[in-house]
Amino acid sequence: MKIQSLRGMPDLFPEDLERWHIFESKLANIFHSFDTHEIRTPLLESTELFSRSVGNSSDIVNKELYSFLDRNEESISLRPEGSASVIRAVIQKKQEQEKHKLWYQGPMFRYERPQKGRFRQFHQVGVEYLGFEEGIAEYELISMVLQINKLIGISDYTIKINHLGDRDAKELFCDSLVTFLKPHINELDEKDQARLKSNPLRVLDSKEKSTQELLKEGPKFQDFISDDSKIFLQNLVDAYSNQCDIQIDQSLVRGLDYYTGIVFETVSQNLGAQDALLGGGRYDNLSRQLGGKDMHAIGFAIGVERIIELLNIEKIKQPLKVGFIIAGEQIDKKTYKIADDLRSANNSIILDSFLSEGSLKSQLRRANKNNCSYAIIIGEEELKNDQVIWKDLSEGGGQELLTSKEVIDKYTNL
Ligand code: AMP
Repeated sequence: MKIQSLRGMPDLFPEDLERWHIFESKLANIFHSFDTHEIRTPLLESTELFSRSVGNSSDIVNKELYSFLDRNEESISLRPEGSASVIRAVIQKKQEQEKHKLWYQGPMFRYERPQKGRFRQFHQVGVEYLGFEEGIAEYELISMVLQINKLIGISDYTIKINHLGDRDAKELFCDSLVTFLKPHINELDEKDQARLKSNPLRVLDSKEKSTQELLKEGPKFQDFISDDSKIFLQNLVDAYSNQCDIQIDQSLVRGLDYYTGIVFETVSQNLGAQDALLGGGRYDNLSRQLGGKDMHAIGFAIGVERIIELLNIEKIKQPLKVGFIIAGEQIDKKTYKIADDLRSANNSIILDSFLSEGSLKSQLRRANKNNCSYAIIIGEEELKNDQVIWKDLSEGGGQELLTSKEVIDKYTNL
């Protein structure tokens, strides 16, 4: 019997990862321009970190957490998301009172039912701005979302946004929702009945049509948040409404318990049922919840598998590729040296070597198939004279004889 990978935990081969690398390099530039720096935290954490942050009543902790007892009988879990670990790390370093602009990336684990766009091991890139109160940070993160979508060529998307108020407003709304829904409990399906008991705000996320109809008559978040919060939300929407489709969605609460203030989600019209590309919001209470000092915090996380699905590869400039062809049998120190010199002269170009099997013609065919723009051909005669052939592979392109120094110059300035 052959051993299979675990369900919902796919392998990623070089042909899959090409898109990932483009995405990652674009993203690195954006983070750099926002002066946002990478943090890496462990994949395994104590289970308590997630029960205290994400919340015991959330689906993530209830049903989806990969938890184990380690050899010391301590309960540890594979991280289902990144924010809790980042906050834990900052508290542990006693840096709650400093300002941080951080990003992270890596695998997350949730025991969900796998389907298209939903995995048990998936990847997120997340951003956390710590130490910034409500204000410019919200604007900056929405700007970042817009830039990311633009850079990778996504245009059909909607940003849904809501303001959950502060913790008191959220609690008052929650109480009012429970009071409203209780007399109607028998009209709810089993799932929503369970949500009403464990995490009433999640009923707002219900996919049931009848529940959504019922909720139309129910309390509205807007009636519980302060005027300042309402104005802030409206200003934020107005600031971006001429650049993207951004809409207030009063039923947007997000699954995790720790959010207060602004929450947002981006959905794409081109993804099918699992249409959420990214989600985030403000969580000023999380540091306290985890035993740290007060710390303002806002962030978002992108689902990498989903955003990569939409990456418009045609719109993105591909790195230049040059075929390195050795004609004949003269694979020796000298030919390797030319390849080494070329790579050190300009490592932004892909030098496609290992083409040296078969006739010159078949190697050229392979260089064309691999999308090489040029080929450097080293023949026996040329090598003796310290020369190479430079061939333009575009239609009607010519070729010329260059010395090894000339070819390096040309390659450097491509
Ligand atoms: P969340 O932490 O649930 O708000 O998720 C943030 C983003 O991660 C979502 O918008 C999705 O793009 C992605 N995501 C969440 N769960 C999964 C999953 N099981 N498989 C793939 N992507 C996911």
